[in-house]
Amino acid sequence: MSGELHEACGVFGIVGRTDAAALTAEALFSLQHRGQESAGIAVLDNGAIHLRKGMGLVHEVFHADDVNRLGGLAAIGHVRYSTTGASRPENAQPLFVRAHLGPFALAHNGNLVDALAARDRLERQGAIFQTTTDTEVVAHLMARSHATNLAGAFQDALGQLSGGYAFAVLTPDGVLGARDPFGIRPLVLGDLGGMPCIASETCAFTAIGADFVREVEPGEVLLLAAKSGVTVLAGGDPSRDKLCAFELIYFARPDSRFGGESIYQARRRLGQQLAREAPAPADVVLGVPDSSLPAAEGFAAELSLPQELGLVKSRYVGRTFINPGQSNRESGVQRKLTVVPEVVHGRSVALIDDSLVRGTTMRHLTRLLREAGATEVHVRIASPRYLHPCHYGIDTSNRDELIAGVTREDELRQLIGADSLKFLSAQGVLRATGRPDHCLACFTGEYPVPVDEEEAGGATRDE
Ligand code: SF4
Repeated sequence: MSGELHEACGVFGIVGRTDAAALTAEALFSLQHRGQESAGIAVLDNGAIHLRKGMGLVHEVFHADDVNRLGGLAAIGHVRYSTTGASRPENAQPLFVRAHLGPFALAHNGNLVDALAARDRLERQGAIFQTTTDTEVVAHLMARSHATNLAGAFQDALGQLSGGYAFAVLTPDGVLGARDPFGIRPLVLGDLGGMPCIASETCAFTAIGADFVREVEPGEVLLLAAKSGVTVLAGGDPSRDKLCAFELIYFARPDSRFGGESIYQARRRLGQQLAREAPAPADVVLGVPDSSLPAAEGFAAELSLPQELGLVKSRYVGRTFINPGQSNRESGVQRKLTVVPEVVHGRSVALIDDSLVRGTTMRHLTRLLREAGATEVHVRIASPRYLHPCHYGIDTSNRDELIAGVTREDELRQLIGADSLKFLSAQGVLRATGRPDHCLACFTGEYPVPVDEEEAGGATRDE
């Protein structure tokens, strides 16, 4: 992706394993792409919950000794990128709560669209919040529930909120897992040697050697326990499935699977569909590394064009020392992506990206390609035009000023300096991914869960 959209978080949970904490740490490594701000693990040990969390990447927060010291027979884990709630230590998850029904720890991916109103209500009733996350709203609702156990309190809380979410909740009875009624945020169920586990993506199962069992259904609430396995506390409705299209387009790891199919294959088909809808008069196809390479492969295969490594991504770029501002942003691109002149010199290039969020980046790329001798640059985007904010847990605040106010496609083409610019259609996304439906709200403006614009941009206060 030549812009910046950030996934909200990744969650994991497992029961019945003496190495639960270590398995959770391994799973979090594999979910690191979903959040790099903080990481945390909560374990259940003899009815007590122990927690370790901190700011930074998984390997910065956890060392082997820490993980082994955590012990426990069940655990949940979390990696975070903040979409609501500031980036600060107290907002790191899991959140630990000692309630009258017992201790519990919450790990959450997504965004609750009505959490701000719920928080105001709770504060008027005397609740004191320790964090600025919407996750804590769930914790307070659970703590005040009249249910007779934590599983009931959790369902009670979810019934009062809406949005796109996936939860892993550690309780003395095991791990609760839940997915929002439209299945916007992903959650999958796995099995490790007869013990159940849940994760945001199947790549976490691959990392620990677990088998994929099935997707947690939209609206489903599960209890995972060592003795009883998986209990369905609330049934789901697969016909309501509106999994976030961006999971398939960009966020999920290409080796993860949704709906029995690999993300890599889905991305390749997005590229093929793009080629059918918007072929380009090109000699060579380049993908913006790394996430757009499968789409570029599909695009090239469909048009029988060569796909070559014309753009190289540096994996070891640190912070820039140049002053912030527009020029800095552009030089940042140059430090991250460079052109192989031999691939593009004297050739017409089809440049494939999975989405267009930051026009400044794409403008810089087209200029680099021309400077390296490309005769024409035809930009093709393997998703529809990104026009509306996401309220379900994806940070879209980085959509840049350059393209925000541009309504005509040709004006955008001129701004990014391309000879032609085409996007995949929303219908094309559905055709390529093969799922009956998706959340496509940031492309179409049709939000599966109604959004109060007053609360748009964040369900909790960012203080
Ligand atoms: S609005 Fe866009 S980014 Fe947000 S959940 Fe829907 S498809 Fe995903």
